[in-house]
Amino acid sequence: MKASILLVEDEERLARFVELELLHEGYQVEKSGNGREALNMALQNHYDLILLDIMLPGLNGLEVLRRLLNEKDVPVILLTARDAVMDKVSGLDAGAVDYITKPFAIEELLARIRVALKLHAGHTARENAVSEDSGEGVLTWKELVLDDRRHQVRYAGHEIALTNREFTMLKTLLENQDIVLSRDVLLNKVCGYDYAGETNVVDVYIRYLRSKIDDVFGVKMIRTVRGVGYVIQSEA
Ligand code: CA
Repeated sequence: MKASILLVEDEERLARFVELELLHEGYQVEKSGNGREALNMALQNHYDLILLDIMLPGLNGLEVLRRLLNEKDVPVILLTARDAVMDKVSGLDAGAVDYITKPFAIEELLARIRVALKLHAGHTARENAVSEDSGEGVLTWKELVLDDRRHQVRYAGHEIALTNREFTMLKTLLENQDIVLSRDVLLNKVCGYDYAGETNVVDVYIRYLRSKIDDVFGVKMIRTVRGVGYVIQSEA
């Protein structure tokens, strides 16, 4: 059975056009042009993927995204007319898997949908594999403990709230202690290999992690290796 997609877009002609293309590809499609309605639909029904416009009546797309991902794990691709880095960063930070800037070529959107569905299927399979093995999934550095199964990070017992992308970035660095990871490697890990946005997204997340961990607990966890990338040193 083909995947089901919720298309949230208030520009009717664009919504109709995308809907027809998706139906033509064999996807099941439901549509909404209102943020609040879309959030209710997404919470009450199962969709394999959600295409979400940012500028929406009822409830802003970023707010829909935040509230939705608080409740369930579903891949969301943002449709954004705006070109501001911060909007994209906010969206990715809130847990969107990808974004596409309008106007876009329909073939590009379809390709991104295929990638997002494939990545999500792999991610779900991995999560299931991890949860079957209770000894797995705990990474440490000094007094920091990252529990992958619980998706939880603590420093000396204090819980640290991280977004999905901050968590993935930290996990990647912890898994590769003493190995300097380039921005490209981190970007692929955190944003997916087809990510076409700004590479400074990596620096933004590193900054967030430092402000939530290094600054709060007075440690120097993530080191910058000038011209190369970032590293967490086990003997730091
Ligand atoms: Ca709109």
